[in-house]
Amino acid sequence: MTVVRVETPTRRRPGASGSSPPAAPMPTDGPLVDRFGRVHDDLRLSFTDRCNLRCVYCMPETGMTFTPGAELLSADELERIGRVARSLGVRTVRLTGGEPLVRRGVVELVGRLAGLGFEDLALTTNGMHLGRLAGPLAAAGLQRVNVSCDSLQPERFAAIRRRGHLPTVLRAMDEAETAGLGPVKVNVVLIGGVNDDEVLDFAELARRTGRPVRFIEFMPLDGDRAWRPDLVVPGDRVLEEIGARHPLEPVADELDGHAPAERFRFGDGQGEIGVVRSVTRPFCADCNRLRVTADGAVRNCLFSDDELSLMPLLRGGGDDRQLAGVFRRAVWGKRAGHGMDDPGFVAPARSMSMIGG
Ligand code: SAM
Ligand code: SF4
Repeated sequence: MTVVRVETPTRRRPGASGSSPPAAPMPTDGPLVDRFGRVHDDLRLSFTDRCNLRCVYCMPETGMTFTPGAELLSADELERIGRVARSLGVRTVRLTGGEPLVRRGVVELVGRLAGLGFEDLALTTNGMHLGRLAGPLAAAGLQRVNVSCDSLQPERFAAIRRRGHLPTVLRAMDEAETAGLGPVKVNVVLIGGVNDDEVLDFAELARRTGRPVRFIEFMPLDGDRAWRPDLVVPGDRVLEEIGARHPLEPVADELDGHAPAERFRFGDGQGEIGVVRSVTRPFCADCNRLRVTADGAVRNCLFSDDELSLMPLLRGGGDDRQLAGVFRRAVWGKRAGHGMDDPGFVAPARSMSMIGG
């Protein structure tokens, strides 16, 4: 099966192809723009690199070393980063990790970030602690959650997520909706030969519950380094399989036209699904994302090891203008694409949980 034929980006904007960017000076004001004209207004902010699970596609079962507490961004530092990002035109923030809900003081932290007035404040979680935290998080100002759930079969779920418990996670989705964090989006990482026989089951879940299900292609960001091209389940295959049972129509994303998930609604109006084709159809040409890791590094791409730490300024008396300069330089240094199709591609040193997915 040939799965990693990376196609020309379909959502191309002028100048975003090729590896030689136009020569131009870095702007010192205005939005966070890179050398290809891509404006960055979506931030993934990692609360921690720790996690209560060890999903096979993300963390090794044993042997993880985590950032010591003193080296993690403090609550004050996270809020300050949020404020600087807001001043640079960041509109939407997704809180992530590791597992953001294992971070002590997470509700207060969410409240502090909510006070900064982002258009959208969302969080991605494995759902294990969501049931008890959904109400307080909603009250603190969180708007939405994505819950990761890779199987609807309890034993398989536990095997993929190593330590996860499906009934707890399904109950948490209900609690989140009751608390006002809905509609809950369900993230499913498909792995060939592991859970790709559940595509239609997840489509039925989307139809029955109204929860949009996002099928994510497995990316070479796993701590075990077990990723192989033949384990990727292409989004095209998912769309064909579901579309053969229930006709699908594309949907535009009004909040985020750059969203990695391409959305499709069921023709009969019974809900929607999405595919994140990061491997087989990368959306780099239209990428508006930047990340801040739990230890305070700004990263411009999941797949690039280039990162700039905010810590020396945060802990060395730097001012907000200097912090903004780090964001600008990080974005300015972004490459045209993630390069997964380059012959010399090497997976980044940090795996998904350490970057913040
Ligand atoms: N712990 C939270 C969770 O599991 O939802 C948030 C962090 S997790 C790193 C964020 C998202 O990345 C999850 O939806 C997870 O399934 C996805 N993910 C992790 N490793 C991945 C990989 N190698 N390829 C594709 N998606 C991955
Ligand atoms: Fe933890 Fe999320 Fe990674 Fe699973 S995907 S190991 S829950 S950080």
